[in-house]
Amino acid sequence: MDLFGTDPATVRTAVSAQLLFGAVFFSLSIRMLPGYRMLPLWALANLSTLAALVLEAVGTGALNNFAQLLGGISMASGAGLLWAAIRYNYNLPVNWRAGISVWAAAVVCIGLPSWLLGPDGLTYTLFYHLLCGLTLLAGLGDYARSQKGAWTVQSALLMVLMTAWGLFSVCVGVLRSTHLMVTPLEELIPATRNLLAAGTTLIIIALNFFGFLMISQRLSRELNQLASTDSLTGAMNRRAFHRRAATLFSAPAPAAYLLMLDLDHFKQINDHHGHAAGDQVLIRFTETVRGILRAGDLLGRTGGEEFSVLLPAADAQVALAVAERIRSSVEELRIEVEDGKPPLRVTVSIGIAPILPGATFDQVALEADKALYAAKNDGRNRVAWAISETCPACETQAALHPPAAAQKTVPEPAAAMTATALACTDAY
Ligand code: GH3
Ligand code: MG
Ligand code: MG
Repeated sequence: MDLFGTDPATVRTAVSAQLLFGAVFFSLSIRMLPGYRMLPLWALANLSTLAALVLEAVGTGALNNFAQLLGGISMASGAGLLWAAIRYNYNLPVNWRAGISVWAAAVVCIGLPSWLLGPDGLTYTLFYHLLCGLTLLAGLGDYARSQKGAWTVQSALLMVLMTAWGLFSVCVGVLRSTHLMVTPLEELIPATRNLLAAGTTLIIIALNFFGFLMISQRLSRELNQLASTDSLTGAMNRRAFHRRAATLFSAPAPAAYLLMLDLDHFKQINDHHGHAAGDQVLIRFTETVRGILRAGDLLGRTGGEEFSVLLPAADAQVALAVAERIRSSVEELRIEVEDGKPPLRVTVSIGIAPILPGATFDQVALEADKALYAAKNDGRNRVAWAISETCPACETQAALHPPAAAQKTVPEPAAAMTATALACTDAY
């Protein structure tokens, strides 16, 4: 099998590496991360490509061509499994039916004719180099798109290495097909053979490190998510909200508003209907608020039944409109918690404070808190503006608002200013 030139030492090293990596991925999938579908697929991909190398090495004489057919199919299947594993890792859909149909069509339409009618080595070349290379490049493309700019030095290096290998594999496929079917390329073929022999083990190791890298990136994403999300409502927790808000505060011209929201008489819901009913109210409340906010807005659960909303790049009218919409939507909520019992109703009080250049988060939060307190004192289920005593910047802002907006509370039903504001906020 001179065309491929895989010497026994390369095969031994590559096969040992694949056995080892396959076993590690299998044991990870069974013992440590049983829910990760990517892992068993990655292990199977190692076994499939291992089978391909063994078949290539053992195929001699009459067996030669058939072993090449099986080996090529194994290699392309391994690449397909890697592609599926990458897609699973990023929660992209995997269409097994379409994948298997294409795979079967390739075997029937390319594999069998080239095995029966083509010259020695053509099947292996078409499957091993062309199909396998193209599938690997497709998987890497999915990986690159899923990174969304979050590249690290390791992922970029591995990506460059594997993309180079994928492209090389496709080029080798084209060269060898040309060599076998069109015109002999006696000078080029030995060079590709040497490079392949040298790179096979390296690429197997690189690919498996890439697998580990994907798993570690995913675990760290999940850990971050857990550490920054409130488990009951799915909103950002206090720490994450403060951290995200701080980055907005450090922008040169924040032009944003902070809303403090507190459910009214929430303790009574717990007392009369139980803690589980209270939890249900918190969940429905969060869903309602989230449905009103835009993608760039921040929502955090900053206390038991206290939430904060940060509206970046919003003006006073938008902030007021959003607050009023939250207030009225919550008032309209009917929350079924027990069969046969009337649904629960709940209201929310909201304080609004502007975030002006130079103000710290604590200053603005204090202003919003005071406004919230005013809303509570004024009878709850209403929206109130901050009028600063401690933050000079906020006084300036208060002066910018028309008197109706700068008043202490916007009583319910909504004031005239609220109606105007609602009319001019199509985005929400
Ligand atoms: P106010 O209108 O003045 O805000 O009255 P309130 O009853 O809403 O406020 P208070 O601070 O007296 O009570 C808040 C309650 O929220 C007390 C606490 O048991 C409840 N709470 C806090 N966290 C949770 C939670 O995760 N689930 C449930 N069910 N209740 C919670
Ligand atoms: Mg409350
Ligand atoms: Mg409270």
